[in-house]
Amino acid sequence: MNLIFFGPPGAGKGTQAQLLQQREGIPQISTGDMLRAAIRARTPLGQRAQKFVDAGELVPDDVMIALVHARLNQPDARRGFVLDGFPRTVKQAQALDRVLEASGRPIDVSVYFDVSDEVIVRRLAGRRVCRQGHIYHLEASPPKVPGRCDLDGSPLFQREDDREVTVRRRLEVYHRETEPLTDLYRRRGIFEPLRDGDIETVYRNLVAIVKTKTGSQKPD
Ligand code: AMP
Repeated sequence: MNLIFFGPPGAGKGTQAQLLQQREGIPQISTGDMLRAAIRARTPLGQRAQKFVDAGELVPDDVMIALVHARLNQPDARRGFVLDGFPRTVKQAQALDRVLEASGRPIDVSVYFDVSDEVIVRRLAGRRVCRQGHIYHLEASPPKVPGRCDLDGSPLFQREDDREVTVRRRLEVYHRETEPLTDLYRRRGIFEPLRDGDIETVYRNLVAIVKTKTGSQKPD
């Protein structure tokens, strides 16, 4: 299964991609997580990306395309993947098509997480993450021990770019650069909107979409 998740920041892409990975073993490829890891490790990529990420702007296409190209060629991604946060521009979508065509791996479905701006702003104020990128929400999915990741006990924190002024900037960028992908994938017949809701309901609807689109027996 080759899946693309797109939609505004904070719509639940990462949460659902992590569930699909845990429950179905489909690797989550989160470009945001990859960039944050590079920034923490102060690699050349991280140093180049940091000012864009902190400001809620997009990292240049050429950087992102090279990063995703390399990741898609790793062995685990050969059997399927969930792209979470890529493509975010028409240019990235075209580059992705070329990479996947060259290796004979078409996109099965592009899932659009449909959530309004006002819900996003409220939701991101309560989001907390650990260093590995596991996602919590103070009300909707709190950790078992306040302030600590369930998986490794590491401290939780608020992402710098989840503060309201940066969230508003990210939403503007999203509407301008990423929303046009809606038409592109709709025309191709691989566009599937996913309605917002509680985490398990959204997951059930997601699995139903994936099953229909891939004609697969899994996930069940
Ligand atoms: P995310 O965790 O997906 O919300 O991404 C966090 C930030 O990483 C974004 O606000 C961008 O600055 C950067 N980023 C992630 N994915 C991409 C992408 N495909 N193209 C450009 N910038 C990206």
